[in-house]
Amino acid sequence: MNVLSLDGRPDLMISLVVPVHNEEAAIAPFLTAVTTAVEPLVASGYRFELLFINDGSRDGTLLRLIEAQQQDRRIRILDLSRNFGKEAAMTAGLDACRGDAAIPIDVDLQDPPALIPLLIDRWRDGYEVVLARRCDRTSDSFLKRRTAQMFYRLHNLIAAQEIPHNVGDFRLIDRQVIDALKRLPERRRFMKGMFAWVGFSTTVVDYTRAPRGSGETKFSGWKLWNFALEGITSFSSVPLEIWTYVGALISVGSFAYGSVTVIKTLYFGIDVPGYASLLVSMLFLGGIQLLGIGILGQYLGRVYSEIKQRPVYLLRREILAPTALGTDSLLRVDTRPRRVRKSS
Ligand code: UDP
Ligand code: MG
Repeated sequence: MNVLSLDGRPDLMISLVVPVHNEEAAIAPFLTAVTTAVEPLVASGYRFELLFINDGSRDGTLLRLIEAQQQDRRIRILDLSRNFGKEAAMTAGLDACRGDAAIPIDVDLQDPPALIPLLIDRWRDGYEVVLARRCDRTSDSFLKRRTAQMFYRLHNLIAAQEIPHNVGDFRLIDRQVIDALKRLPERRRFMKGMFAWVGFSTTVVDYTRAPRGSGETKFSGWKLWNFALEGITSFSSVPLEIWTYVGALISVGSFAYGSVTVIKTLYFGIDVPGYASLLVSMLFLGGIQLLGIGILGQYLGRVYSEIKQRPVYLLRREILAPTALGTDSLLRVDTRPRRVRKSS
């Protein structure tokens, strides 16, 4: 995209989409880092929108955001009705952002804002998607790195669309890509896979992933496991179909074994011992069947949540930046959790 205003400056707006959940300590350092990083871009005519999505925080995150908004009118705040998870919060942000391009970015400074000018440069070169790839993940634990690598391998082996290794949600996407993503109606949202699915011309820039600035990760081992399951079941039906082949293989094996047993019995008479092999094969088959049913359940559960057609997130309100007229009205925004009102 190459839009220039009359004075030759780029008339473009970039939306930073920032989901936040219990991040009160991270907001100020994030804003400082972003402001510094985008300063030269602002000077050359780019406009920015800092779209924070408060994903059901229970600490002072919302208050910190409102205070920051008093100082910086580029800040927009979407307040979700509860914690819907990062993927849903990001969806809310992408739905609401107004920029010619959007950059989903974590607030904990693990996605370095200093990279933003580079992402924008590559976008101006004509790419619709600019991925930020972690070339060094030593800040993550060994276990996290290994399991992440295994996940990417397995996913790409069985899913139709490859997701690039070591690429998180930090990237720049053009307005066309944002609009394409809005057309994907699924409720269970695995954004990495969805980003890959929509395609568009893509390039990569590398960066080193820093440790978290403050606070701690919101993704425990169990959450990550479920996240991986989400990724695989969203973009591949191989786990569902593989049982046809496993079943066929076992049937052929059983038939061959049965034939051998019949022939042996005919020639050598009945041979009673076989308790161990009977038990082992029963247990083996029982296990395999339960596994197959479990995988069916994984998909069925997802089909169920899709057909309920519930919205991906619920917005309590958007908190607008103070206007010249009513500056103090925003100081009165109630940041306490709301009571549920009965509808008449
Ligand atoms: N986040 C969110 N909702 C959640 C969990 C996390 O909006 O339910 C946000 C969080 O505030 C942060 C980003 O998602 O800005 C990444 O979270 P985190 O740093 O915990 O993930 P990690 O870097 O460990 O993968
Ligand atoms: Mg993080």
